[in-house]
Amino acid sequence: MSDRMPTIFFGHGNPMLTLSENVYTKGWNHAGRLLPRPKAVLAVSAHWYGRGLSVTSNPRPSTIHDFYGFPEELFAIQYGAPGSLELASRVKELLTPEKVALDDKRGLDHGTWSVLRHVFQRADVPIVQLSMDAGRPPEFHYEMGKRLAPLRQEGVLVVGSGNIIHNLSMYSWNARGPLAYDWAERFEQRVRELLAVRDDATLTAYQSLGRDAELSIPTPEHYLPLLYVLGSSDQGEALSFPVEGMDGGSMSMLAVQVG
Ligand code: ZN
Repeated sequence: MSDRMPTIFFGHGNPMLTLSENVYTKGWNHAGRLLPRPKAVLAVSAHWYGRGLSVTSNPRPSTIHDFYGFPEELFAIQYGAPGSLELASRVKELLTPEKVALDDKRGLDHGTWSVLRHVFQRADVPIVQLSMDAGRPPEFHYEMGKRLAPLRQEGVLVVGSGNIIHNLSMYSWNARGPLAYDWAERFEQRVRELLAVRDDATLTAYQSLGRDAELSIPTPEHYLPLLYVLGSSDQGEALSFPVEGMDGGSMSMLAVQVG
């Protein structure tokens, strides 16, 4: 395949959002319909952030319900997309000399399935997940994205799933409305401006962006998947926001597509 697949960062937000038809799930579905059909998806999710690097290699990955305190309906969801040992092996090869373990037990976490079940409703696109090494600085994650870039020429959709702004302690579970905290509005605007000029260095060094960044990114795991999308793309490529919105006041649902 000579054409390069786009690469997308999705804001997944509160897992309850996946249950209903809403502006976000409709946006994810719409984004999926506009994409060229990928051969497979490589997903990097906020919810697989731990020690070292692993990639899922099970041909039938399970659906992991990695949350608690939610209704039974959410635990009942099964997303039956197949895996791909071929893609898992290719990822391992591309990330060499980093050590990457093939994990044939791990399934797909909700950062991945809560969005992709709307993007690929038929569950017929193979999905492989790559973990993020929590022991590494942001620059490392950006570099991993760079090394994964050749996948895009091979028909693979590189997906990051997290939230550019993810402050759960200030999140409003009940009174969700259009209003966001002023620091959240400002930080999302700042990120959009940096994305528009592709200032990847500053986006990677987000910890230097002051108090708004501290409130928006109290822990790194929901932001870092964006760096895989940026790392695997180039300055000159088209950039768009297929899904927008702020949920619960402190969670940016912004999706960022490159290509
Ligand atoms: Zn999450």
